[in-house]
Amino acid sequence: MTARNTDGAGVVSALDRTAQVGFQSHFHRSATGLWSAPGRVNLIGEHTDYNDGFVLPLAIDRRTVVALASRTDRVVRVASSFAAETVEVSLDELVPENLVGWSAYPLGVAWALGQFGADLAVVPGFEVYIDSDVPVGAGLSSSAALESAVAVALNDVWGLDLDRATLARVGQLAENRVVGAPTGIMDQSASLLGQADAAVFLDCRSLAAEVIPLGLHPAGLELLIIDTRVSHSHATGGYAARRKSCEAGARALGVPALRDLSLDDLTRAQAMLDDETFRRVRHIVTENQRVLDTVQTLRSSGCTAIGPLLDASHRSMRDDFEISAPELDVAVDTARRAGAIGARMTGGGFGGAAIALTPTDRVPAVKAAVMAAFAERGFATPDLFVVHAADGAARDGGVRP
Ligand code: ADP
Ligand code: MG
Repeated sequence: MTARNTDGAGVVSALDRTAQVGFQSHFHRSATGLWSAPGRVNLIGEHTDYNDGFVLPLAIDRRTVVALASRTDRVVRVASSFAAETVEVSLDELVPENLVGWSAYPLGVAWALGQFGADLAVVPGFEVYIDSDVPVGAGLSSSAALESAVAVALNDVWGLDLDRATLARVGQLAENRVVGAPTGIMDQSASLLGQADAAVFLDCRSLAAEVIPLGLHPAGLELLIIDTRVSHSHATGGYAARRKSCEAGARALGVPALRDLSLDDLTRAQAMLDDETFRRVRHIVTENQRVLDTVQTLRSSGCTAIGPLLDASHRSMRDDFEISAPELDVAVDTARRAGAIGARMTGGGFGGAAIALTPTDRVPAVKAAVMAAFAERGFATPDLFVVHAADGAARDGGVRP
């Protein structure tokens, strides 16, 4: 992977170059700037974001690059290596109702910037070409990578001077209002605020964010992603149902959000709630505590000591929140038995990816064991790869707008 600086003086990566070439072939001129933003993986803190709780994601060394150049008129054209068609729209027609399909992400960001102070009546149009090595739909947030890359690019080109926390809210608004996905602020925050070899500790109520060093490399640990490549059909409905249960639990217990409960409240919760709602609540309350404990453990003892918290998080998602899947459970159990020091499913659940914190010299054995376990059960072939915590969105080196 290419080293880069957040001030944009970084080296141009191979992906930057293919984005530049893609821009040239689509728009028959050179892009005047390259910006990129990373995907993310959540180390711990699942489904806590919409409960006003805590999350601990990290930006990863898989990025989405946008090559962009302004136009002199009001036309916007977006193209991507992922899509056959180039989508064209006028800035005068940039309203959520008009935006559909993949282009709703980049165009939704342009619209959302208008909600955060950009004067869309006067800004120039632009052409953008998107390229990426963030896998789509694997739970690594290709959507936030795309939103964040476009947000930092337009922030520069339109001279908006919005800070990163605001740009995260821009991406979230685009995803909520334009794409129509009721997601929290975690993904965009990780993509915009991440730093090399560190995680982003985010309070989803106050939006306060703190960078927490991970120290994986000095500890001889790698973060292995096991993308199961399955997405179970109840993923969307399951997510909505879990949100509903959490809201019902908070209402019944008389708190604004489950964030406001502590472990001490669980006895009262158990007495008041039906068993299923109680278990949903218990996951959120214990998971919030596990995020706090992970941050504390990273600070006091380092990353070699967080394994049991990852394991406990997985059990809670499997048994209490019931968002795991057979593939995820096999991935986690197999990785642990083959030498990972902690493992859990990550992301919304019902498929997607698991993470396994693995000593570097055990990575080949863990990979081989997971491949064999999946083959034995007739599961789809998983994709296994190591990620490193990387810097957040940046203007990439080489060309300037
Ligand atoms: P993920 O977990 O990867 O974020 P989502 O369903 O939230 O999955 O977002 C994936 C969607 O984002 C894709 O279906 C596509 O519409 C859009 N997207 C992501 N990356 C790209 C890209 N490089 N080019 C075009 N569209 C993209
Ligand atoms: Mg997404």
